[in-house]
Amino acid sequence: MLSVYNTLTKKKEKFEPINPPDVKMYMCGPTVYDFFHIGNARSWISADIVRKYLEYKGYKVTFAMNITDIDDKIIKKANEENENIIVISEKYIDAFLEDLEKLGIKEADVYPKATEHMDDILGMIETLEEKDYAYNINGNVFYDVSKFEEYGRLSGKKIEELETGARVEVNEEKRNPLDFSLWKKAKEGDPYWDSKWGRGRPGWHIECSAMSCKHLGESFDIHAGGNDLIFPHHENEIAQSVASNEKPFVKYWLHFGFLNIEEEKMSKSLGNFFTAREVLDKYSVEAVRLFFAQAYYRGPLNFSDELLAAAQKGLEKLKNFVENINVELTKSNTEGTIPDLDVKSYEDKFINAMNDDFNTAQAVAVIFDFVKDVNRTIAENENISTTFYDSVKAFLERAAVGVLGIMNFEIEGEGISERDMSYIQSMIDKRAVAKKEKNYALADEIRDELKSLGIELKDSKEGTTYKIVK
Ligand code: AMP
Ligand code: ZN
Repeated sequence: MLSVYNTLTKKKEKFEPINPPDVKMYMCGPTVYDFFHIGNARSWISADIVRKYLEYKGYKVTFAMNITDIDDKIIKKANEENENIIVISEKYIDAFLEDLEKLGIKEADVYPKATEHMDDILGMIETLEEKDYAYNINGNVFYDVSKFEEYGRLSGKKIEELETGARVEVNEEKRNPLDFSLWKKAKEGDPYWDSKWGRGRPGWHIECSAMSCKHLGESFDIHAGGNDLIFPHHENEIAQSVASNEKPFVKYWLHFGFLNIEEEKMSKSLGNFFTAREVLDKYSVEAVRLFFAQAYYRGPLNFSDELLAAAQKGLEKLKNFVENINVELTKSNTEGTIPDLDVKSYEDKFINAMNDDFNTAQAVAVIFDFVKDVNRTIAENENISTTFYDSVKAFLERAAVGVLGIMNFEIEGEGISERDMSYIQSMIDKRAVAKKEKNYALADEIRDELKSLGIELKDSKEGTTYKIVK
């Protein structure tokens, strides 16, 4: 049974989707005015693991991640660079999608953009106004927080506490300091859309309410984001969606811990960040994902070069294992023995770990134990059957590659066609004959030719094996 910590109820709950096997999941995406940092990446990778684990369990997940492509920060950047905002947002949308791919994050089913959903956004604001949750002052439309009884439930705070503690928009026109913008009147020179309240553009919170409703329905299963979004962003989304749709909004709220630098949240505004692309230039995607997966997703995590280097080093064990098992596979056949190591019991442990609120740290430990135990088994047994190696690989493909993304079989040559394999083997055989006939020039020529194709030969007492190198 999968249990999930729900920020709304502040406890672990049994995961029961509204309409199984469908699961509808929404993740807050980027505001596209710059490259994203490795702190953002932590949240997106965490959501990716959650999604992939649900898929592993057989759920049919529809995953939506919004793109905020109209915002003060984008306008500012466009002004600084003397560019059109569309040029700026498109440039960073491309970079965002490219970086997600490099991080091994599975493509979302939909990336709704605010500028492409103006009708939905305006429709929702109008509904809120009709229902008396919104008021218009001189072309600025605000949400009246005092009308929504449950305001503060997600963040677990009373309205009075929120008023004193929070960073809320300062605007003299608002009735209450916590009221927030649904529609912002356009200033001179700003991009704008027409509305019944005049020219303007939407506030940030209403985007997510309107677009999640459009793509996932009025009520859906999971809404995720970093911890900083609990208040006010997600609190406001609840207020908007529940008031306008008069339906329950989200069943499970998942929030991810911050990536910190020297105990401080990594953020654009503090300037203490590394972009995801910078980090990926130095470390492999598997190392980055291992670094995140070793920690509990809701807790804070410190980032440093030393810690990432340690993750990269830890990964060596997995990489050597992949190399080892690929070599063993080429040597084995189905007539061999099946050693006494129950692969399924490790998969059960992996499932138990992940079922406990996505305990990836525990799941990673299971993978490392498994690898260690398979290595020992290989050392202690002779002539192991291909069937055994296949089952080892299949489990790792599902769990370590498919869900966690901390391993990669491809680099080492998985995916080469049978024709290529038999070609390589015939070259190896030809070289063996050449060597036997003391025709070392030909033997070396064959070795060099294979090397130029990215295939490295390794001679040992048992014969010659090969490895695909990039
Ligand atoms: P932003 O572009 O700041 O709205 O952030 C996009 C996503 O990344 C949101 O889900 C944020 O909560 C998340 N995020 C931002 N900074 C961090 C951080 N330092 N650690 C983890 N998640 C973060
Ligand atoms: Zn959002």
